[in-house]
Amino acid sequence: MDSCPVLIAGEWRTLNGDAATPVFNPSTGEVIAESPGGSAALVDEAVSVAAAAFPAWRDTPAVERARGMFRYRQLIEDNFERLCQSVTREHGKTLVEARGSVYRGLENVEYACGIPSLLMGDTLEDIARGVDCETMNQPLGVCVGITPFNFPAMVPLWMFPLALACGNTFVLKPSEKVPLTAVMLVELLEKAGLPKGVLNLVQGGREVVDALITHNDVRAISFVGSTPVARHIYETGMRHGKRVQANGGAKNYVVVMPDADQPKTVESLMAAAFGCAGERCMAGSTAIAVAEAGHRVLTSLTAAAKGLKVGRTDVASHQPDMGPLITAQHKSRVEELIASGEKDGAKVLCDGRGLAVDGAPNGFYLGATILDYVDSGMTIANEEVFGPVLNVMRVDSLDNAIELANRSAYGNGAAIFTQSGHAAREFKHRVKAGMVGVNVGVPATMAMFPFSGWGESFFGDLHIQGKEGVQFYTQQKVVSTRWFGGNAGDVWRK
Ligand code: NAD
Repeated sequence: MDSCPVLIAGEWRTLNGDAATPVFNPSTGEVIAESPGGSAALVDEAVSVAAAAFPAWRDTPAVERARGMFRYRQLIEDNFERLCQSVTREHGKTLVEARGSVYRGLENVEYACGIPSLLMGDTLEDIARGVDCETMNQPLGVCVGITPFNFPAMVPLWMFPLALACGNTFVLKPSEKVPLTAVMLVELLEKAGLPKGVLNLVQGGREVVDALITHNDVRAISFVGSTPVARHIYETGMRHGKRVQANGGAKNYVVVMPDADQPKTVESLMAAAFGCAGERCMAGSTAIAVAEAGHRVLTSLTAAAKGLKVGRTDVASHQPDMGPLITAQHKSRVEELIASGEKDGAKVLCDGRGLAVDGAPNGFYLGATILDYVDSGMTIANEEVFGPVLNVMRVDSLDNAIELANRSAYGNGAAIFTQSGHAAREFKHRVKAGMVGVNVGVPATMAMFPFSGWGESFFGDLHIQGKEGVQFYTQQKVVSTRWFGGNAGDVWRK
């Protein structure tokens, strides 16, 4: 089994204890590691170390911090395939999906390399006679990151590179289901020369999280995970005086207009619904077919879904189109939701249940599933499924499609497929979601833009990534300056 250590003050430690969580290779069902339980005492140590490392790191010039990020960037490139294999092994993504996700993470390191420019403030001369004004962006102190299972490399990379580049110190707590890639990411940053104590890694679950978000010395919390936990992190963190950005779950709608390009729409819907086995907060998990759009796309969509090759992702030479779900327990939950949809009257066009994969009888597999005539009253229409399940809802107009999408409590992403500029304009103007796609099925933003969920998909003010990310990890100081003429001035004039 792999070891799953923590890093405190530059020292790797293996923890022993009872509350360990098994880490699976979802392709085979084998246990490949155990994530240790952690404790409040461990958190206290990690935060104290990060607090002690803060003054020297804060005073390190931004260009030097950026230089470290450039070295880190290169180390990620050099170890790219190793990182992707780790993502695949502990999460089950295909290698193609893992590569895409590590690239999305790497782009955040590249963004952080520009920190000297990103941190620049504004100045205005003579705000009053002889008085100049300037803003400075300074780091906060100790920041923490708590991440979900579904992107073992990308989501941690959303957080600590930018936080550190801004001059903060950091404690990372990865998902106990996928802790191994995070260990590799932290090892690589050590190799890039990061001073001891600036980034610390802890492991564990709820107890560790609660100790982190209430610790006196923590200034800011970045969280990504499910909505109930995001709300808990936000409310608890705020009550304890922290700055919080908490990304939650989602239910994203893809509106298909009758004039949509049929082959491209089917291809995009396949990727949106079944990419990463549907375990994506930006999954396009509900298609809203407007008028005859349903007849135009569903036949080929169903055929494509039935043809999707599902299998082991941990064998590099034989990659399937789609891999397994994260755990047996999660797979059962998704199957139960499919059964509830069927019981509530949805028509199963493609059924992924009961799938057997050759040579991997204990893997957590579920095939692509499409449910048609899903109604807004059904449980499956409202709960985040987080599996390879596409709901199809049918409406007769764009107005009704937007109205249906806007009923959702979430608001992460929404997309429209159409050839009409007018329909696209109406949609992007009126839909209540933070990330909108026009003929783009998964409008997940890249590092230079905020990952900007709305509604119950996000709790906080400043989103992750981009300029908002820099604002989140810094506090602004406004300095007004006046110098009086005096003896020194007179001396210069003589
Ligand atoms: P999760 O909420 O179960 O866990 C996320 C993190 O919170 C983990 O590190 C976990 O240890 C911790 N945690 C879990 N329960 C906790 C509790 N009761 N108290 C304190 N901490 C707790 O989420 P997950 O299942 O790992 O990830 C999937 C979820 O993440 C989905 O809902 C998905 O939509 C969401 N997600 C959202 C985004 C986004 O940007 N909006 C991105 C990726 C994933």
